[in-house]
Amino acid sequence: MSITAYHRDPAEALVAAQQAVNRLDALWSRTRPGSDVTRLNAAAGAEPVEVDPDTAALLEKANAAALESEMAFDPVLAPVMDAWGFGATESETTAVHRVPDQAELEKLLSLTRDLPVLDGDTVSLPIAGQAVDLGAIAKGAAAADVVEVLTAHGVDSAVIALGGNITALGTRPDGSPFRVYVRDPQGGGEDYLCMMSLPAGRTCSTSGGYERYFEANGQTYHHIVDPETGYPAQSGLRSVTVVAEDPALADAWSTALYVLGAEEALTRWESGEGTVAGMDLILVTEEDHVYVTQGLEEGLEPLGEEAGYTYEIVRR
Ligand code: AMP
Ligand code: MG
Repeated sequence: MSITAYHRDPAEALVAAQQAVNRLDALWSRTRPGSDVTRLNAAAGAEPVEVDPDTAALLEKANAAALESEMAFDPVLAPVMDAWGFGATESETTAVHRVPDQAELEKLLSLTRDLPVLDGDTVSLPIAGQAVDLGAIAKGAAAADVVEVLTAHGVDSAVIALGGNITALGTRPDGSPFRVYVRDPQGGGEDYLCMMSLPAGRTCSTSGGYERYFEANGQTYHHIVDPETGYPAQSGLRSVTVVAEDPALADAWSTALYVLGAEEALTRWESGEGTVAGMDLILVTEEDHVYVTQGLEEGLEPLGEEAGYTYEIVRR
C-alpha cells in the first residue's frame, strides 16, 4: 500500500489509514488464521458463520457483481485458483504453479458459482469444499475505508494506491486533478500506455494477465480465471482499466470485464444501463488497440504510439 496525503501534519492520519487497512486484511485475508474469510471457508457446507458487518457488506457487493456480470466475477473461485497455484500462498516465490488436468478442474468447478448466502451478518457457504476469495475486490473496498479515515482526520487531498487500484481523494493541492500512469501490459513494468487525469473522488483499477503469471510447456498462464472454463481468461484483452466512483466496484469490474472481453464490455457501456455504463473504461486488446471511453478523453496522454498502440475514443 502507498498512501500520499497533502496536509500540514499528515502523520496521524496516515497511521490511522494504515490501521484501517490492517483491520480489513485481518478480516478478509485467505491466509490469516481467524479471519472472517478463513472461518467462513472452514465452515463451508457445515454451518453459518457470524462475520463483521464490513465483511457482510463486501460479500453482498461481491454477490451483486457476480450476478450482474453473469458470473464472470465469481467470489467463490478459490478452489480453482488454488489448483493453479494462484491461491492461498502470500508470496509468489513460495507458490507452486501447475496446470491442473480437465477432470480435476471439472470437479473443482462444481464448487464455484453457488454464492455465499447472507442473512444479516450471518453467512454460509452452501457446499462443503467451497471457499471465498475476495482478491479481485477487497483492495478496492479497503480504499473506501482509507478515504473515510483520511477525511475524518481533515485530509482533503490524497492518493491511495492499493495493488492495482488508485483512488483520488480530492484534487492536487493546486486544484487540478491527480494524474496517473496506466501501464503498458507488454512493457515489463517499465513502459506506460498512457497518462490520464483521475477526477476527485474517483478510483482507477487495472486488471491484466501480465500482473501474475507462470510459464509451462511453452505456454503462459495468468491469474485471472474464466469461471466458465476454469482456465486463465482468454478474451482477447491484455488489460482493463476501470474508472469509477465506488472503489470496490472499480476493482470487481476491472476483473469481470477482463474475463468478458472488449465487445461485451463496450456493449454494456454503450447501452447506457447497468453498472458498467456508469464507469469509464480503457480496454487494451491483443491487437494493440486501445479503446478509451469519452469521459477520459480530457487529460488523456497516449504514450504507447511508438510501441505500436492505436487509440480510439468511444462515444455514446
Ligand atoms: P484483480 O487483480 O483485481 O483483477 O484480481 C485478480 C485476483 O482475483 C486473482 O489473483 C484471484 O485471486 C481472483 N480472481 C481471479 N479470477 C477471478 C474471477 N473470474 N472472479 C473473481 N475473482 C477472480
Ligand atoms: Mg479487481
